[in-house]
Amino acid sequence: MTTIVESTSSIAQERRVVTAIPGPQSQAMHARRAKVVPPGVGAALPVYIAEAHESIVVDIDGNQFIDFASGIGVTTIGHTDDAVVAAVAEQVARFTHTCFTVTPYEGYVRVAELLAEHTPGNHEKRTMLCNSGAEAIENAVKIARKFTGKNAIGVLDHAYHGRTNMTMAMNFKNSPYATGFGSLGTSVFRAPSSYPYLDGLSGEEAAERTIWYFEKQVGASDLAAIFAEPIQGEGGFMVPADGYLNRLQDWCHENNVVFVADEVQCGMARSGAYFASETFSLVPDLITVAKGIAGGMPLAGVVGRADIMDATHPGGLGGTFGGNPVSCAASIAVFEQIERHNLLGEAQRVEKTLMAGLRAMQEKHPMIGEVRGRGAMIAIELVEPGTKKPDAAAVKHLVDEGFQNGLLLLNAGTNYNVLRFLPNVRMSDDLIADALGVLDAACTSYRK
Ligand SMILES: *Cc1c(COP(=O)(O)O)cnc(C)c1O
Repeated sequence: MTTIVESTSSIAQERRVVTAIPGPQSQAMHARRAKVVPPGVGAALPVYIAEAHESIVVDIDGNQFIDFASGIGVTTIGHTDDAVVAAVAEQVARFTHTCFTVTPYEGYVRVAELLAEHTPGNHEKRTMLCNSGAEAIENAVKIARKFTGKNAIGVLDHAYHGRTNMTMAMNFKNSPYATGFGSLGTSVFRAPSSYPYLDGLSGEEAAERTIWYFEKQVGASDLAAIFAEPIQGEGGFMVPADGYLNRLQDWCHENNVVFVADEVQCGMARSGAYFASETFSLVPDLITVAKGIAGGMPLAGVVGRADIMDATHPGGLGGTFGGNPVSCAASIAVFEQIERHNLLGEAQRVEKTLMAGLRAMQEKHPMIGEVRGRGAMIAIELVEPGTKKPDAAAVKHLVDEGFQNGLLLLNAGTNYNVLRFLPNVRMSDDLIADALGVLDAACTSYRK
């Protein structure tokens, strides 16, 4: 029997709202879901998806949304990219699984080569692959502890690292990520980060503050690693002050502490560079990757200095599905597409268009306190005009207006007062302009 894979490439790249949002079919599906899926698994917008291509997602009622969520920064090169679809289809037909730790295959090795080539630094590197961002963080914790023989883990205010037991302890926000879930992973210490809009500190000053906290709370002699998102994701896309991350890493190196850059959200072309660390001239010891590295297929990993990665004994790392061959095939295609279509340049174009548009909106709407970010990772922080007081209701209004008008948008921020844009890096300037028009009107209608 032959199966015909219907091409999605005919989806017109435009938003189109043909029913109330969510539409009747989605509402019926949502009722079905409520009977079998627990509410702990949320839904930002309960429209059920039929198909997607490039920047447009189509729901089962026929509504078309411009996608500024990209599945939380995953479909960075666009939905159903032709090369990714072909690579996945080809690999699925050859073999879907053998378990890399039972009988290995080339795809895993190739992904490790590509990550070694495209992460910052020319030193020798190793990569271990796993399935999710949280799992990558868990592995980086193990690797850093093994290498240093130390136990404590340092994290930053506003951080987000995942939903597993250890990563729950590493997140800044207890609610909703850890509330009521029992005792957390141990030996995690937290320090203030660099948040230039609110703290006004230089990179040097913010780093000295962070280091002071770690020295007083735990001390370098017990600290195995510091984890930092070069640009924080869920926390609200804060771009740290110049030199902050570099000073922090220097301190790590003076004290045999492993510096881990969590690039799960900001990595893989998202920032306009392969990895956001590069935009700060930072060469991390370890980098955790996930989200955008495999075009929507589940894949994650830890990439890092060979001496650190090699400290773990055989059998200490791995997992049944880690580095699944179909996910690896997708990832290789993503790397090739980034090169073939200059997608780093495209991310920089998106930054220019979005930043300029949002800055023009900021002139008109004092509720927009700051526009920030890099590449196709841009956010606005919404405040009560004339103050820096967070206005979460404003973000909710903009997100809801977006939904009703065919935009998929996500909030962010410890106070939920950040609206983040995670378009694919190829989204056209026309679609961005169209979306900004919707948001401009939503700003005007707020509290009117
Ligand atoms: C999403 C995210 C994670 C967790 O990744 P999952 O694949 O959801 O487990 C970790 N760190 C950062 C920075 C993230 O954005």
